[in-house]
Amino acid sequence: EKDNTRENNVAKIKVVVRKRPLNKKEVSRKEDDIVTVCDQALLSVHEPKLKVDLTAYVEKHEFCFDAVLDEEVTNDEVYRATVEPIIPIIFRKTKATCFAYGQTGSGKTYTMQPLPLRAAEDLVRILHQPTYRNQKFKLWLSYFEIYGGKLYDLLTDRKKLCMREDGRQQVCIVGLQEFEVLDVHIVKEYIERGNASRSTGSTGANEESSRSHAILQLVVKKHNEVKEKRRNNDGNETKAGKVVGKISFIDLAGSERGADTTDNDRQTRIEGAEINKSLLALKECIRALDNDQIHIPFRGSKLTEVLRDSFVGNSRTVMISCISPNAGSCEHTLNTLRYADRVK
Ligand code: ADP
Ligand code: MG
Repeated sequence: EKDNTRENNVAKIKVVVRKRPLNKKEVSRKEDDIVTVCDQALLSVHEPKLKVDLTAYVEKHEFCFDAVLDEEVTNDEVYRATVEPIIPIIFRKTKATCFAYGQTGSGKTYTMQPLPLRAAEDLVRILHQPTYRNQKFKLWLSYFEIYGGKLYDLLTDRKKLCMREDGRQQVCIVGLQEFEVLDVHIVKEYIERGNASRSTGSTGANEESSRSHAILQLVVKKHNEVKEKRRNNDGNETKAGKVVGKISFIDLAGSERGADTTDNDRQTRIEGAEINKSLLALKECIRALDNDQIHIPFRGSKLTEVLRDSFVGNSRTVMISCISPNAGSCEHTLNTLRYADRVK
């Protein structure tokens, strides 16, 4: 059992930290870069002692992770360090999840955006290999959002979705549209289309999308065409096929949003509580997974319920914690690193 979970030498849980560069605004404000990447696994944060004088006195915090990526690291290198090793085992019944965690503006979307495209390229290449070509494997894509504890399909005009369990611990999101990936170029189009329909409230697009979790799934299914023709007399085979493995890419809500629980606006408060709940539940589930616990507390939130089947059996989890390097973000950065540290 245990050996099986280390298949391909891919750790069951991997926690990676990515530091983004200082942005123009931060540079023009002459903010200090307080994050130092010491080596491939170690980083330190120099906490300003006084808020009024950010250089007055510093306290040093050190953290160690599976990998630490500095501001020079490209998205392609991020892919290679995180998702690439998992791809081959998707064809051997692995359910993988890749999260981007961090405060708004720390680089979650920048990091996550290109990953599904690269993954789809690799998955499609493998399913065209001679060993798999005759097995009727197909790749499917879906993209949805969890906002205020509710699910919305990002590829079909934010159609509201609901979740059901089928008794065999399989999660079924009723009504979620899946699109077959015949040509990987289409993946980019789907991502753009989905992003355009992410939550946009009166306060502006970026503001609102930081309060939702966006989930893009790539699913490899095995198809038995004879059976499927019998099952679907309308000739529509999209729902058929047996799931072989899948990978979910999750651009989480801004971690600081979980603290919006005392906001004056009622709606913001409710959403903040929901985000807080889901990020706590996520941490608990990953920890339970790491300890090989039988009971995974996935019922703690909508997010973890949706991911239920990715937390059981042969699963892989990659957490990419994104951090801002500027002194003004110190508190959020330390919170993100402590969260990541707890997950490990
Ligand atoms: P988030 O999704 O966490 O709110 P974004 O991904 O939108 O943050 O990033 C905020 C800004 O910083 C964007 O303009 C983005 O292009 C830029 N950015 C983030 N990470 C990097 C990076 N590693 N290198 C260069 N620019 C980055
Ligand atoms: Mg974002």
